[in-house]
Amino acid sequence: MPDGADVNFWAQAHEQTSLALREGALFPLQTTEKGHVDQGYSFRLLTITAMSEPQLAALIQAFTSADCPFCPPLDPKLTLGETRTGHQVILNKFPVLESHLLVISSQHQDQESYLGVEDFAAATEVLGDEDGLIFFNAGRQAGASQPHRHIQIVKTGRLPLHEWLGKGPYGQPRLPYRHALAPLDAAAFQEGSAGPVLFATYARLLTESGVAHTPVSPGIIQEAPYNLLLTRQWMIIVPRLSAQAAMDIPINALGFAGIILLRDESQEQLVCSQGALSLLAATCFAPSP
Ligand SMILES: [Zn+2]
Repeated sequence: MPDGADVNFWAQAHEQTSLALREGALFPLQTTEKGHVDQGYSFRLLTITAMSEPQLAALIQAFTSADCPFCPPLDPKLTLGETRTGHQVILNKFPVLESHLLVISSQHQDQESYLGVEDFAAATEVLGDEDGLIFFNAGRQAGASQPHRHIQIVKTGRLPLHEWLGKGPYGQPRLPYRHALAPLDAAAFQEGSAGPVLFATYARLLTESGVAHTPVSPGIIQEAPYNLLLTRQWMIIVPRLSAQAAMDIPINALGFAGIILLRDESQEQLVCSQGALSLLAATCFAPSP
């Protein structure tokens, strides 16, 4: 905020959601949820049930329009305000999880450009004291649906990733895909230190995971697609090979937190028969030896 006042974005999201629903500006996807376990790792499978005509029309419009939905002017019914860094905070127009916020750059910046100190400062400011998941789909091959830089934040509820991370030696899970992960301490979420601490960790993990071979500089176009996941305890980078698993199942960062959105029951059956972890691995590189 330019005047330095703190905003509770979650309280605002709660209010704005009711308003946007009443005004027909928000289109939550209705899903059924099923638990699934593959190789000892638990998942939440969310399968879309019926979609209304207006919802379908809004989705088609959003994904086929030539206009960038995150460039000004933003829809005031979905807008929550501005962070101290000048990022805009808006509601996800098609949420699957409750309270799904987007932190977007005020000017158009490429989704495939590296994040910087200010992006991390903005995301942690929005998260505030909540226990949530901050995630970033870096490029279409990593599951991004829009080209304007946007970081996503959800309140976690039950996040399978929390359970996965306790497994294996030193609390590090043996995941069947290449990834780099770092534990975080309190400084990573303190105002002032959050931006620099998280950016330094991000740059290191991009190099360790094989995404970056040259120094990571904010705003420079990335060398390869990846997903970023950030909780209060960990940061994880997963380099990506493709955006979709079998049967066109789209996999974005949420998948690597154990939450997979499925279009219909046939996709759900496929995940249950092949195993969610195997499907994720098929969109990634083999783990480093
Ligand atoms: Zn834009």
